[in-house]
Amino acid sequence: MDQFYPVIPIYQTAQNKPAYALISVHGDPSIELGREGAGGQNLYVRSLGLALARRGCQVDMFTRRESPDQEAIVELAPGCRTIRLDAGPARFIPRTELFEYLPAFVEAWLLFVQQSGQTYELIHTNYWLSGWVGLQIKFSLGLPQVHTFHSIGAVKYGTIGTLPFIAQTRLNVEQQCLEQVDCVIATSPQEAITLRQAVSRKGQIRVIPCGINIQHFASVSKTAARQLLQIKPETRMILYVGRFDGRKGIETLVAACGKLLQPFQLYLVGGSRSHGSDAQEQQRIRAIVKDLGLEAVTTFTGPIPQKHLPPYYAAADVCVVPSYYEPFGLVAIEAMAAKTPVIASDVGGLQYSIVHNETGVLVPPRNAAHLAAAIADVFVNPERWKILAEAGQQRVQSRFSVSAVAAQIHQIYQCVAPFSSIRSAG
Ligand code: UDP
Repeated sequence: MDQFYPVIPIYQTAQNKPAYALISVHGDPSIELGREGAGGQNLYVRSLGLALARRGCQVDMFTRRESPDQEAIVELAPGCRTIRLDAGPARFIPRTELFEYLPAFVEAWLLFVQQSGQTYELIHTNYWLSGWVGLQIKFSLGLPQVHTFHSIGAVKYGTIGTLPFIAQTRLNVEQQCLEQVDCVIATSPQEAITLRQAVSRKGQIRVIPCGINIQHFASVSKTAARQLLQIKPETRMILYVGRFDGRKGIETLVAACGKLLQPFQLYLVGGSRSHGSDAQEQQRIRAIVKDLGLEAVTTFTGPIPQKHLPPYYAAADVCVVPSYYEPFGLVAIEAMAAKTPVIASDVGGLQYSIVHNETGVLVPPRNAAHLAAAIADVFVNPERWKILAEAGQQRVQSRFSVSAVAAQIHQIYQCVAPFSSIRSAG
């Protein structure tokens, strides 16, 4: 082991702060999206880390170094930093192939703790790979562990044809996580039910949704957004935002657009710039767009940094989340924050963020005809959709602000690992 971490001042002893380790092996919270596999998890960890730091905590977010030129430590804000550990080759490795490098990640984490002298009240792990890392740390140091699944193998494997080699290991680790960590955070009541039905009846679960910076997404008016993006006021704009992944259901959205009688423009925002499975899915979707004769009305923008997303949400007449499976679905609440009408699949966490016919509309997944009818309704009934969108924004304000969500998660940390200033100062 030749990695060396600089000795870092121990913030919590100096400033009497509780220190928490967030672990996200494959979802680096400091990178901009656009890399293969980067999505909601990266943003969840980053926004939680920043919000906890604003609450006076010291937060270290551990991830795996994916390229030799990445810095080992990035200070995102006072009290919040990303720490990249060397575990396996410094290049992108798909999630399905990461398991063999996890022992090296655990070793690098323990070395960091030893060399820096940093101590933590607890670890909060994200996704099953980090969950496995957390269980090893929990058992060797006795640290409490909180876990967020982000995706559940038993559900995901029901939506894909060929199971990856790692499938059984993942299912076993997910069961261990649920049964053995101190608290699992489910991001919706639907996820909690699924965990009970598909993973285990044992273990503690608390439901705390994902949160967003609402002001950020509500910061632009529709008129200003359209001027900025050079979209004419009369254009009917349909928006998709997210990764290109078979389970996101972009194919169903494109097929629905092929059935529309009114003129429209379809914006597909997101996707990776590298050559992995996301790029393959983009190629597949481009071929479907071409077959349906929709090339002239479809724009593939590529990935847009989240700081530049608000005009896209604000400019759209409707944002569609056509997923076949979605544990939470940040895009839906981001669009709602921008007061844009949302149509989403009637699955998973989308059933929690959207109250059907009150704050948006839920449609059956994989059903292009149904989706097309819902989109057409947005165009012909704008007054109805204005009311839904206003109610949507109110729902986001009342439940999904990142500061309120971080406060609830902080409360769980305090229950699981009561912070003792005497212990930390000692
Ligand atoms: N996103 C982004 N730029 C893009 C496309 C997506 O910043 O070009 C963000 C989007 O704002 C959202 C996240 O990626 O916060 C996707 O999260 P979601 O929960 O919808 O899906 P996941 O990637 O977790 O499956």
